Amino acid sequence: MKHLLDINNLTAEEINQIYTRASEFEKGIRKSNHLNAHVATMFFENSTRTKMSFEMAINKLNANKYDFCADTSSLNKGEDLYDTINNLCAIGINAIVMRHSDNNLIKELASKKYYQDISFINAGSGTNSHPTQALLDFYTIKKHFLTLSNITLTIVGDIAHSRVAMSNIALLKKFNVKIRCLAPENLIGEKIEGVEYHTNLKEAFNEADIIMALRIQKERIQEHIDIESYIKNYQITKDNLPYAAFLMHPGPINKNIEIASDVLEMQNARTILHQAKNGVFVRMAILDMLLSAQGL
Ligand code: ASP
Repeated sequence: MKHLLDINNLTAEEINQIYTRASEFEKGIRKSNHLNAHVATMFFENSTRTKMSFEMAINKLNANKYDFCADTSSLNKGEDLYDTINNLCAIGINAIVMRHSDNNLIKELASKKYYQDISFINAGSGTNSHPTQALLDFYTIKKHFLTLSNITLTIVGDIAHSRVAMSNIALLKKFNVKIRCLAPENLIGEKIEGVEYHTNLKEAFNEADIIMALRIQKERIQEHIDIESYIKNYQITKDNLPYAAFLMHPGPINKNIEIASDVLEMQNARTILHQAKNGVFVRMAILDMLLSAQGL
């Protein structure tokens, strides 16, 4: 593995290998030292969990961490991103963790032959891909349920603009999870084969083992969204959440929009902080694999 760009580049076996390695990090039975590795984080969109847990992972692997801050960088003096990365290569950066609003930029960067010494890790690209989120969600689900067969998962929210939905669907389809998507028509987006689409909450929640809630991605939507009607028809409440369902959310939560705040105090919602915690081990596993592949 040279880069981590998209779930579609991973086989089920590689996903299981990441799971195993992450679990060894969690149990403390694997320790890694990457003292010669230099890892830069480049976030061009806001982030709390992803950025902090990558930073934590880099520190726990004893690698060296560099936070590239776009706002104070020479990008603001008109430097081109390609030249910026050329210079990071020259300085000695070995891996770049990048989040960007462009769906394809990270793939283009990774395909440039003059960056061949760098590993790129996608920390969220536009609306299409967030592979480390899907991998940590897989970790969280597998750790709890042990097996993914016979699981029904309902993703509810802004499916159309969610890279979390896209990457989770791509990953969970590989493990034959029964996936349902629930949203009003205008937030459903392009339909994916093998996924059930619903506009009715009762039908979509019926006998679901996992409910994965998503935020409405206001920053990516031009047209008017009727929030009142969304709340009325799709908000997760104490009354509509299936009794034993595992409630997941990638964060950030917009309280009282996609989830009623009192639901967050229920046992079912404990998973949400487990997701955040597991993100550190999964990101450690990914970085460990990529840095080791570079001999670092
Ligand atoms: N944190 C996730 C992402 O970066 C979900 C979200 O922002 O709603 O895609």
